[in-house]
Amino acid sequence: MSLGKSRTSRRKARPAAPSGTRKIKPVDLPEALRRAERFRRYYVEGEPDACWGWTGGTCGRDGRGVFSLGPTGLHTAPRVAWAIANRTDPGPLFVLHSCDNARCVNPAHLLTGSAWDNMDDMIRKGRDRKASPRGESAPNVKLTESDVREIRRAFAAREATQEALAARFGVCSRQVWMITSRRSWAHLDQEPPRPR
Ligand SMILES: [Zn+2]
Repeated sequence: MSLGKSRTSRRKARPAAPSGTRKIKPVDLPEALRRAERFRRYYVEGEPDACWGWTGGTCGRDGRGVFSLGPTGLHTAPRVAWAIANRTDPGPLFVLHSCDNARCVNPAHLLTGSAWDNMDDMIRKGRDRKASPRGESAPNVKLTESDVREIRRAFAAREATQEALAARFGVCSRQVWMITSRRSWAHLDQEPPRPR
């Protein structure tokens, strides 16, 4: 195999994490270990070197698995898998896949890396596209227009927090925030309601 030698010049100095990358939430390790049994219900442990696909909730365009750790909200499933397997909070490090399978939670395929490694990884996989399709036509979006209207209604009426709505609709809280702040699905407000 001749893969992995494509980088001809290494960066000399690594500045601080690039702006605009995701903030990394620490994993509450005791909470993760307490919920380890529940976590295991969402994947089937296969052969040691196979990918173990996440069957629980997902979030985002790449179908990244998510798992709730209660008070600290949703975390990516691979991150929780890594934390449980290594009995360590990955802290400021990203949890990356050696298998390029965003749904995989086999700890043998997970490794930690810096924000720069994560950027390299995303660029390599072509996931850093800026433009994203709108609304229901976007791939992997589980929400419908009526879900979005309900999220906005319930949030505006203070019936539920963004975290609670995220859990109820099975999406990440960032997605709920994007909806309530009109950063996504903004076109819904401009359209007249559909006749029934
Ligand atoms: Zn894998």
